[in-house]
Amino acid sequence: MSRECRIALEALEHIVAHAREARPAECCGLLIGSGTTITEAVRARNASQDPNRFLIDPQAHIEARREARGRDLEVLGFYHSHPHTLPEPSATDLREASYPDHLYLIVSPATDPAEIRLFRLVAGNFLGVPFIAM
Ligand SMILES: [Zn+2]
Repeated sequence: MSRECRIALEALEHIVAHAREARPAECCGLLIGSGTTITEAVRARNASQDPNRFLIDPQAHIEARREARGRDLEVLGFYHSHPHTLPEPSATDLREASYPDHLYLIVSPATDPAEIRLFRLVAGNFLGVPFIAM
């Protein structure tokens, strides 16, 4: 287990809405905040040609980092959706995760309420991170 995180309720709602809109394709975006607190979720274009995968548009990623820094915030991690399956990291997710110590949030919009899980990439593995909405 990794340190508990806090996520703004507004950010969670934004992620769920994005995931529902993008269905049946996967959606993705960035998690912005500071320390262990995620205050915002920013949508990114899914640059993957495959609707069952996600690739955050690199330009959007660079711009989000710059924009966050300008407000003394940082990109803490990423979110994506699993339109048809549980919010567990897939083998592909692990293979393509390339930001150590960043947070990876997965949302499953198939259920109501949507199921959300948070992980941190530590030493090449996803560790579950408990979180509370605020
Ligand atoms: Zn995935």
